[in-house]
Formats: sequence, C-alpha cells, structure tokens
Amino acid sequence: MHTEGSNPQSAIRNPQSRDFIRTIIAEDLKNNKHGGRVTTRFPPEPNGFLHIGHAKSICLNFGVALENNGVCHLRFDDTNPSKEEIAYVESIKKDVKWLGFDWGDNLFFASDYFEQLYDYAVQLIKMGKAYVCSLSAEEIREYRGTLTEPGRESPFRNRSLEENLDLFTRMRAGEFADGTHVLRAKIDMSSGNINMRDPVLYRILHASHHRTGDKWCLYPMYDYTHPISDAIEKITHSLCTLEFEDHRPFYDWLLDTLQTPAHPQQIEFARLNLTYTVMSKRKLLKLVNEKRVSGWDDPRMLTISGLRRRGYTPAAMRSFCDTIGLAKRESRVDMGVLENAIRNDLNDTAPRAMAVLRPLKVVITNYPQEQEEELEIDNHPKNPEMGKRQVTFCREIYIEQDDFLEEPPKKFFRLAPGREVRLRAAYLITCDKVVKDEQSGKIIELHCTYDPASRGGSSPDGRKVKGTLHWVSARHAISAEVRLYDRLFNVENPEADKETSFMSHLNSNSLLPLTDCRLEPGLAAAGVNDRFQFERLGYFCLDSVDTAPARPVFNRTVTLRDSWEKIGKNA
Ligand code: ATP
Ligand code: MG
Repeated sequence: MHTEGSNPQSAIRNPQSRDFIRTIIAEDLKNNKHGGRVTTRFPPEPNGFLHIGHAKSICLNFGVALENNGVCHLRFDDTNPSKEEIAYVESIKKDVKWLGFDWGDNLFFASDYFEQLYDYAVQLIKMGKAYVCSLSAEEIREYRGTLTEPGRESPFRNRSLEENLDLFTRMRAGEFADGTHVLRAKIDMSSGNINMRDPVLYRILHASHHRTGDKWCLYPMYDYTHPISDAIEKITHSLCTLEFEDHRPFYDWLLDTLQTPAHPQQIEFARLNLTYTVMSKRKLLKLVNEKRVSGWDDPRMLTISGLRRRGYTPAAMRSFCDTIGLAKRESRVDMGVLENAIRNDLNDTAPRAMAVLRPLKVVITNYPQEQEEELEIDNHPKNPEMGKRQVTFCREIYIEQDDFLEEPPKKFFRLAPGREVRLRAAYLITCDKVVKDEQSGKIIELHCTYDPASRGGSSPDGRKVKGTLHWVSARHAISAEVRLYDRLFNVENPEADKETSFMSHLNSNSLLPLTDCRLEPGLAAAGVNDRFQFERLGYFCLDSVDTAPARPVFNRTVTLRDSWEKIGKNA
C-alpha cells in the first residue's frame, strides 16, 4: 500500500542530471557566492488552489534546497486582500506537504512584512526615489506609453519631499478613498522597459485582509513586495517563471536603491503547460465558479488536489516533474507524459483486483446451486511479496457486457455462443445459450457450462483457449459507482485562439459515471490512499469525497495503456 508523500529524500535528483539552474547553483557554491548557502522559496499567492505547474516549481525549489543542504521557505505572497482567502492558504500547505516537502520553521507571509515594507517606502520617498501620484488608474495607464512609445511624466512627479511624506502618511491613516492616490517609484518614464516607467508601489484599498484584518487600507503591490520579501528572508536563488524576466531590472533597482541586507539572484525558467488543459488559476477558478467542474478538487482538474483525488501519487508527480526538466522557452508538454508517470508508478505498486463495470450475468448451469469455493489469486503478477487473496466462485457470476458478442468479428477472442474462454484464476467455461428479454431483444444473461477439470484456469488437455475474462461472483460482489474520465478539453491547446474562449473547448464527455458496477468483495475494505489495478480496466482509487459507507465510489486514475496514442496511430 502507499504511504502518502512523506519521503523528501526520494525527491533528490540524480546529481548527474543537472539542468541549467542546478548548474548555476553548483557554480555559485563552488565560488562561495552566497557564503556557501542555498536558500530558496516557493512563493504562492493564496488566491486559488495549486496546480501541476506549481508542483514543478515546488519540486524545483524544495529539490534544489534538499540537494544542497539548504532550506526552502514557504512564503505566501498575500498582497491582494480582495482575492485571497485563508482556505487557500490551508489548501496550499496541505498540497506542499502531500507532495513530500517540508518547510520546517520557514513559513512566512508577505503580510508579516507590511510594516517593514512601509518603512522602506518612506525611505524611498526621503531619497527622492518615490512620489505620491494623484492621476487616476486610467490616466496612469495612458501616461505609461506603449512598447513603441515612451511614457510621459506625471504632473505630480515633482512633488516636494515634505508633501510626499505628508500625503503618504495620510494615505496610511485612511484619509483618502480608494483610487485617489498611489505611491510610485521615480525611475525613468522613457525606459525601453515599461516596468521601469515609474511603477506603482502602493495603492489605497479599504479592504479587510485575511491576516492583518482592518489594520491597513494601503497595500503594497506585488512587484514591490516580492523582491523585498526575498531580500528580508535572505533568499539566495529566487527561482521564478519567465514572465518575471522583464521585472528583474526593477527588482534590482529596488534592492540596490534600498541597500537591502541581501540581494537574491533571480533566475527564470519556463512555466509548465500541458496539452488538453488550461493552467492559470484565473481560468481554473472560472471553471469552478461556473460549475463546469465539481470544485477545485474535481478529479478532472489538473490541480494538485484534483490529481490527488483522481489517484495520482506524490511519487508519480515528483517523477513527472523530474522527467520534464527545466527549459528557458515555453512549450506544452504532452498530457501522455503525466499519465505515463502515474502508470509506471502504479504498475509496480498497485495490487490487482477484479471489477465488472457493466455487468452481464452468467449462470454456470452445471455448477451446483448451493456450492461455493475459494480460489486463490496473486495480488500482483510480478511481485510475490504482495501476497495472494481468496475470491469466491459460485454458480452465478458477472462478466463485462462487452466481453460477449453474439456475432463476433474475426479478431474477437472473448466469449461468444459455442465458444470457450477462461475465467481468470477460475475455470474454463463454454457459452451454451443466450437469454434475451422477449420485448426488447436485449441480452439478459448467458448460460454456460464449466469444465471441472480446469480449476485455476488451466487447460486440462492442452486445448487452446485464447480469451481470459475477469469476473466477480454475483452472490458476493459489492455494488459501487465507478467514474471514468477523459480529458477536460477536446483540443490540444484550448488557449490557442485568443478570440474564442477556452470554455468553448470543454469536452462534454469528460466524465462517465457508471452506477451499477460490481466489485470483488475485498474492495469494501479499500481506504482513500489505496490504489488498485482493476484487471484489464485500468488503475482506480476510492473517491475521497463522494464515497458513502454503503456506497463506494471509485475513480479511474488512468487507463492501462495510452488509448490516445493508439487512436493517433490508427488514424
Ligand atoms: P497562475 O498564473 O496559475 O495564477 P501564478 O504564477 O499567478 O500562477 P503564484 O501563486 O503567483 O501563481 O505562483 C507561485 C509560484 O509558482 C511562482 O513562483 C510561479 O512562478 C510558479 N508557477 C506558477 N505557475 C507555474 C507553472 N505553470 N509552471 C511552473 N511554475 C509555475
Ligand atoms: Mg500570480
């Protein structure tokens, strides 16, 4: 069985397989650049649940720290009170832990630095490097210029130091309404880099913050908060995604101007994108809010909580992050790579079980009515340590509806009238009669005979029996709902066309709930952290949310093979 998360050592990469970030860090260590220290951080904004892209950043930041005897901080960049919630903070902590990482005592919140950030802002004003601007948001945007046109200076840019200090103090004191004034850095309105054109540092926002309550009505901007928080924590390597490359000159300007106690080195890498999904929290939130999924943890969502509920293991997620590596250019990783990671993990570790998703009753007419017998099956074909289990055989069993065809085509080796097949680990049976509903013509049950000499499923006289079917005892099986999933979107890149919303590419068949499934009785004891291979059907786990005491619900984590790859090849 799986022990969840918990083994950070297993996250340590093979030191030989270095990416460009690990190469830089190794070089820095060699040159004693940060006093031989490696301190990284994972800095989520608590405005949504984490997704698989965040897992990449978590594995990188915590992984690099572990490999170099360093530490990795978990810091919430909580500067936007209107979009943030304590529930997100809790879910993020849970997800990072579940992935197997430990921040120890190093849990921080940017909001804990609000006072210090304010002092730094006052310092900038006193240095003549920041001013209170009273243009509206609209005007600021207009004055900023474009990529091809320089910006224009704000008429408030040359306010006196005293006036700036006075206004900023009163902004904090709550004397002004939202949007009336902002604090801006005084850098260069004609810079080729728009981020250097007097960026906004503080805005007035009369909103309660999930940690500081109503203490503040003046909130620092992300771009001002983030680099200073890194510096306060003496982060050595500030690893972030490519979109922050253009912000680096401002971060450097800020830390150099303020002479902060440390100047972290920012290194950018490409964010993870996957085919057949969207990744940004904003878009995931839209799916949740518009009820296109059941919640952030819907098993079709590529959130960490969704993947966990779907049956992904922390080991598979870490192995996936390891496989895709780091790049400096954006790309879209094939969803099949993620599915293979969990398949590889579960193939080795998941015990086998038998489940019938769409039951068809089979009556073994020459098997005595009251008789029952215990048959022994290996829990894993290649792993004898996983032991054996007993399954009960009797006169009435279920097989899959699609394991029987009245008029089988050439390559169909399963059951058909007059044909003999093997019931896995049980007996050889031959189909004698098809019983149909008189009105509808629908097949109700099959009448078969078994060969008592074939116990265990062996052929007594060496006669060839091609098909092997899984089955469950009709008398002993438990009822369950089983949910099959397909990809949430039906195109590789739902964001390709800027004109059409990604929402229009949702796959309407992404969830197939099967409500009349029959499972081997041992599965009644399954726990939420258990995963199984249902023979011939894929890997499954108990649904942690919708399972009721008398009504188990199982999720298919992944199919046995990449069915999409097969479809692609046939086409
Ligand atoms: P989103 O765009 O999904 O809202 P974000 O970047 O706004 O993501 P944050 O909470 O700010 O989310 O991210 C925390 C950290 O995770 C940041 O360092 C960010 O660069 C990183 N991160 C976010 N998305 C990805 C991704 N797809 N691949 C790799 N790293 C990511
Ligand atoms: Mg963000």
